[in-house]
Amino acid sequence: MKAIEYMQQELQTLEADSNLRRLPHLVHDGRTVLADGRRMLNLSSNDYLGLATDRRLREEFLQTMTPDTFLPTSSSSRLLTGNFGIYEELETELSIQFGTEAALVFNSGYHANTGILPAVSDAQTLILADKLVHASIIDGIRLSAARCIRFRHNDLAQLERLLKQYHAAYRQLIVVTESLFSMDGDQADLQALVDLKKRYTNVLLYVDEAHAFGVRGVRGLGCAEEAGCIQDIDFLVGTFGKAAASAGAYLVCCRTIREYLVNRMRTLIFTTALPPTNIAWTLFVVRRLAGMQERRGHLATISRMLREAMQAKGYPCPSVSHIVPLIVGPSADAILRAEMLQRHGFYALPVRPPTVPEGTSRIRFSLTADIQEREIETIIQYL
Ligand SMILES: *Cc1c(COP(=O)(O)O)cnc(C)c1O
Repeated sequence: MKAIEYMQQELQTLEADSNLRRLPHLVHDGRTVLADGRRMLNLSSNDYLGLATDRRLREEFLQTMTPDTFLPTSSSSRLLTGNFGIYEELETELSIQFGTEAALVFNSGYHANTGILPAVSDAQTLILADKLVHASIIDGIRLSAARCIRFRHNDLAQLERLLKQYHAAYRQLIVVTESLFSMDGDQADLQALVDLKKRYTNVLLYVDEAHAFGVRGVRGLGCAEEAGCIQDIDFLVGTFGKAAASAGAYLVCCRTIREYLVNRMRTLIFTTALPPTNIAWTLFVVRRLAGMQERRGHLATISRMLREAMQAKGYPCPSVSHIVPLIVGPSADAILRAEMLQRHGFYALPVRPPTVPEGTSRIRFSLTADIQEREIETIIQYL
């Protein structure tokens, strides 16, 4: 029982520090959630384009389904019998949209990020990762045989020094970043990263666009589309669980990398492929993303409103996107702020250590295209 008592003590410490997490009891109703008997506007969802709450879209998709095409399981890994045609249809669609040689689809962003780096790395690999990359990327690095150095967040001068210092000592170096960052909502300078990596023949670039796919770019392909550098990113990863209102993830890359991963990537090989129906829904949404410029425009407008209001009130606001943190500092303050917003009908959640650095607890507003300007105005009054 000693081991269990230890866990209980650890949990008590978390509770005392206001850092204990619980699974919330929620009922979803379109843009709103019901919790503790209150109906609140959901300001914590990753449904950035508002597609998950779009009933008409689901109706349209259901019309395409019959008992023969509604396939709730693949029953196997893609390398055995799970490779239904719909997977390759989605990959072909992605490689055409991105203009890349190849695409590969995974079960989730977590599978992608914990699988790709271990598959392509060895002891002769140095990974240079931004200090603020997502936990799934950190786990991928830890599972790999590579050595890793984290550079200060978006500090390209430090990255440049590291590349210069180490490029000759390794077979390959992989620079890893996100395009839009999960917690600060700020952005990496992709063009500058591409320029840096092009100075060396053995440097590859890995970019995670989880928060940007569907949201950025004229066709919704992400920040790399916006920066015009899709072709220059060796591993361009994105996920379907956020703006695309589905589940799963993709990598667009060259043919060789795709084939290499099919042979080496454990989180692709040793898992049951997503249900074909899920892939069909993803494809249905992906084909419509280019036409959603109006939703992207509205999301950009309300995001700017909220960011500017925070700055005007003197909060530090690093965000340049629809992820807008209200950084308050102590965890207890963040919790009180979230409770206050929830009392007024806004479901915003506190984000605390270890997700963010100690002393930077915050309310993380994650805006979606179905939030209205007058709702943002009301939120601003409560900041
Ligand atoms: C959400 C997210 C992931 C994980 O993707 P899932 O499909 O939810 O597993 C990976 N990377 C980043 C940057 C994310 O924000």
